[in-house]
Amino acid sequence: MTDMTLLRGAKQEAEGLIHKSGFVLSEQEQQDLAVNDMGLGDIRAEGLVFVDILRSARLRITLLVLLPNQTLPQHVHPPYETEIGKEETLRVLYGQTRLYVPGPENNPQVLIPSGKEAYYTARHEILINKGGQYTVDPNIEHWFQGGPDGAVNLTFQNRVDETKNIFNDPRSLGCPIKIDD
Ligand code: ZN
Repeated sequence: MTDMTLLRGAKQEAEGLIHKSGFVLSEQEQQDLAVNDMGLGDIRAEGLVFVDILRSARLRITLLVLLPNQTLPQHVHPPYETEIGKEETLRVLYGQTRLYVPGPENNPQVLIPSGKEAYYTARHEILINKGGQYTVDPNIEHWFQGGPDGAVNLTFQNRVDETKNIFNDPRSLGCPIKIDD
């Protein structure tokens, strides 16, 4: 668990980025804004700040904030039972998001969290600037990283059982998006 002061600081910094993005949160959403270090203990290296904007039976829209160079660790949304897996579209509202998927490695300067190289096998970088978006198909390994000024993103997802998400780092606790039901 990351130190509470660091978690609070991360949240405040994320609030500043949201403000810069121009995306207006309701009072409830502000209260629900959550910091998640995924149990990895270093919020500045691996984690995110997020809040659900819509969570219906079939659809989920989340505001996902990444601090500068902060990484949402590599994971996959696999098929299970009759579900083909989560399709996840990310739209950048502020800053830049670096998205990594399987494919030819194209950035020799890729910033892998220290000592975690084995867990970050998807090395094909897609840079998404403000106004850009990208859809990650179901069952594709992926990870996200905030650019030099961080990133505020909207993510559009079909609902799946988030406990089915698979993270490469076995120390990760659950999914990137907090389960509240
Ligand atoms: Zn994902």
